[in-house]
Amino acid sequence: MSNQTYYGPDFGALQAQDPEIASVLLSELERQRNGLQLIASENFTSPSVLAAMGSTLSNKYAEGYPGKRYYGGCEEVDKVEVIGNERAKSLFGAEHANLQAHSGASANVAVYQAFTKPGDTVLAMSLPHGGHLTHGSKVNFSGKWFNIVSYGVRQDNELIDYDELRDLAIANKPKMICSGATAYPSLIDFEKVRSICDEVGAIMWVDAAHFIGLVAGKAIPSPVPYADVVSFTTHKVLRGPRGGMILSKAEHAAAIDKAVFPGMQGGPIMSNVAAKAVALKEAATPAYQSYAKKVIENAQELAAGLTDHGMRAVSGGTQTHLALIDIRSTGVNGKVADERCGNSGITLNKNSIPYDPESPAVTSGIRVGSPATTTQGMGKAEMRQIADLISRAIKDGGEEAKAAAIRSDVKALCAKFPVYPN
Ligand SMILES: *Cc1c(COP(=O)(O)O)cnc(C)c1O
Repeated sequence: MSNQTYYGPDFGALQAQDPEIASVLLSELERQRNGLQLIASENFTSPSVLAAMGSTLSNKYAEGYPGKRYYGGCEEVDKVEVIGNERAKSLFGAEHANLQAHSGASANVAVYQAFTKPGDTVLAMSLPHGGHLTHGSKVNFSGKWFNIVSYGVRQDNELIDYDELRDLAIANKPKMICSGATAYPSLIDFEKVRSICDEVGAIMWVDAAHFIGLVAGKAIPSPVPYADVVSFTTHKVLRGPRGGMILSKAEHAAAIDKAVFPGMQGGPIMSNVAAKAVALKEAATPAYQSYAKKVIENAQELAAGLTDHGMRAVSGGTQTHLALIDIRSTGVNGKVADERCGNSGITLNKNSIPYDPESPAVTSGIRVGSPATTTQGMGKAEMRQIADLISRAIKDGGEEAKAAAIRSDVKALCAKFPVYPN
């Protein structure tokens, strides 16, 4: 079978048919190539993952599960979902896997639905301390439909306060306790969370969206042996397609599957399910394990570099792929730093720090991550250079002439580590 029929129309056809969209695709590739991508939740997927995502599997409706579909013609797509489920279970040592959730947030909708009813109490990480929107934001379904009680980090060490977590669990008797965050640079003590869940009879849910890739690469401890359910995205450190995934104990398999379909979604995006399977195979290799270790080393080096420039790493540094940096010493707030870095070719995000005196729209911090630059092949020396560039950008990125100079240094650095060469 030729590539043409398998992958669908090639880029040349798109350019001929729709130059307007094709040119955006090209300029986005240029943007990814010429700037530093430090958003902690972003990465560069492999060409194989992209190929599966861009395949004709996208055309197939496959509501249901392998062998139990609501439409005919699912023999082929059934194979990729079965392979993907088996790869997920084997990579993570999980009893059950569901690859159908369209995104991390959708996976979380399914988790709530599998274990709770509207109005139930759920304990989750406070948003200003790093929790995700789906952990109880007032503008999200979670905050609207559930009674969310939030726990946070201690002010002195900026680490999760497990004593507070236990006290809140005993006082509020939650149906479910969620651990996991979008901006928490340290490891979570899953054994401790399990013991608190057992003490109050709560479901242990780990939202591992950010760090599951590090677990896959055996660079940090896994929540899977402890948790009832682990939800995550496949496109962050894990380096797969945009999407979600859920692992669980066998006893919860039916509840999870029903919550995803028909509970929350219609047909799965089979091209992305195939791409998830491809990413899981990649993540099971020694090369990926060495990548995962480098991601952490690089994040630590980047945090150390920024510390050398007088900034402060929240919780004293990082044990993961991301660092949260308190930049108050620079005299610049997170919002302005984010803009100045962006103007200098460095893509990162402003981020609240724990007990931030500034509003979430302004913030006192930035969040930086190493997954994408590490995929490019950058190492510790480059992390030091990136720290220098960030420091320059925060100081000078508001002045166009100086920003242009930083942009050109950024571009020169990136040119040595080309993204999607050819
Ligand atoms: C990224 C993230 C999500 C949401 O994933 P989307 O694919 O953007 O919906 C959920 N939870 C956590 C902790 C995340 O970091």
